[in-house]
Amino acid sequence: MSNMQDKVALVTGASSGIGRATAELFATNGAKVVVAARRGDELDALVAAIEAAGGQASAVQTDVSKSEDVQAMVQHAVGTFGRIDYAVNNAGIEGVFSAITELPDEEWDRVLGINLRGVFLCMKHQARAMLAAGQGGAIVNVGSVNSFLGFPTGSAYCTSKHGLIGLTTSVSAELAVQGIRVNLVCPGIVDTPMHHRARNLLGDEIYDQGVLPSVHLRRAGRPEEIAQAIVFLCSDAASYITGTTLTPDGGLTLTV
Ligand code: NAD
Repeated sequence: MSNMQDKVALVTGASSGIGRATAELFATNGAKVVVAARRGDELDALVAAIEAAGGQASAVQTDVSKSEDVQAMVQHAVGTFGRIDYAVNNAGIEGVFSAITELPDEEWDRVLGINLRGVFLCMKHQARAMLAAGQGGAIVNVGSVNSFLGFPTGSAYCTSKHGLIGLTTSVSAELAVQGIRVNLVCPGIVDTPMHHRARNLLGDEIYDQGVLPSVHLRRAGRPEEIAQAIVFLCSDAASYITGTTLTPDGGLTLTV
């Protein structure tokens, strides 16, 4: 555990899965947490759970693909808790899996709009807030093993996640001199609502016989295990780490 007392963490996509587990872990470490996502009821329930456990949290309903929402999200964080020390850009969708010949233009735009443009917008406004405070900070973006690997019918999702490597490395180089570290966490298969939707799209047979056997630990990860990697990269224990990727994937990308 890290001591994050008096620190402020902002987590997008916090209503579910990896984002929710990350927000809870920040709170357990003593940070004040701003939780952002599209679903207000679930965010309110998360805030109540964090407060019931003795933590501090605030919810802000946000669509990360909309510039005005992202600006309002960052203003909410600064207005509520004074500043942002840690920002986790985790919100994402799997979209519709489709052959390139059938993939609707609008679906390409929707997936790239949330998974790639959304992270761009978040980093832009988070970095402005961190620079204005002048106390450094840490940003973690959430990619995927599909930041390195493609799969048939996954062109929009994989492109969005590959793009996060360029976005993360470039921005980390820009902000390092001001004491802001930027890293990318690339999970493998994680037991969340997204994973179950993706499994339904791919089919149990492809998943059980094609995907799972390539995971050397032979199981899906738990959201809490990914949260540990994210919170570590924000913590002082990672003070010399910037511009890199950490891949908690149970060994999925070790071998072909
Ligand atoms: P999830 O579906 O459980 O949660 C996704 C979260 O993102 C939800 O809170 C949702 O409301 C939010 N979200 C979606 N679109 C949004 C938008 N436009 N604006 C704001 N919030 C939005 O999924 P998860 O598995 O927890 O995924 C979290 C991240 O991890 C995603 O970026 C995903 O691509 C990545 N990831 C997941 C897996 C996996 O197997 N679950 C693997 C690799 C990467």
